[in-house]
Amino acid sequence: MPIVWSEQLSALLDLQKIDSRIFVLERELAEKPAQKRDLETVFEAKKSQMKASENALKAMQMKQKDRENDLASKETNIKKYMAQQSLVKTNQEYSALTKEINGQKADCSIFEEDILKLMDEIEQQKSIVEADRQKVAGIEKECKAQLATIDARCDAIKTEIAGLQAERAKFVPAVEKTLLPQYERILKKKDGVALVPLSGESCSGCHMSVRAQTVTEIRMKDKMIACEVCGRILYDA
Ligand SMILES: [Zn+2]
Repeated sequence: MPIVWSEQLSALLDLQKIDSRIFVLERELAEKPAQKRDLETVFEAKKSQMKASENALKAMQMKQKDRENDLASKETNIKKYMAQQSLVKTNQEYSALTKEINGQKADCSIFEEDILKLMDEIEQQKSIVEADRQKVAGIEKECKAQLATIDARCDAIKTEIAGLQAERAKFVPAVEKTLLPQYERILKKKDGVALVPLSGESCSGCHMSVRAQTVTEIRMKDKMIACEVCGRILYDA
């Protein structure tokens, strides 16, 4: 049976209405994993910032412990030297121990200053950690909500596509077998639009002008005519 182009054209236009919608939906669906990754990246970055703050706090607390141990050992030394002082027999030995004690005391004041400074820094760092934790908790909540929205949208898209596919199956038999793969090839290459109307004497797909003879042939609807520039199938709306 010969192909009647005018009938094929209207069958293809029916099909394209569905296919264009499917194309838009599939493109939206394809963008979703990257959107989810972006959200997770933002969250992970905040989380590692929080981890860094926590580690800095731990390091300060360890340094404080070290300084306290240093201080305690100096204080033990002082006690030891003072005990020795009460037992020494000569002035020389006594003053040697006094010198030792004074040296240890000088170290103690340095350590005490260090500890006070560290305590201040630790307090400040604790506020930073707390702020980071709150930020992370907020972002986590927000990310989860956005991920759930994305997932819900994906489900809705998939449902709509399934419905459109079922509808599409009803329109496919009206299209001639050899024409269908040709149409689908252009559809894929041209972002879901295989058929475009003439716009005056130009192709409305690529906006290039169409030869007058070709325009006449398109209007006659005798055969399929594609744009010589972009390859889309032209029709007269
Ligand atoms: Zn064109």
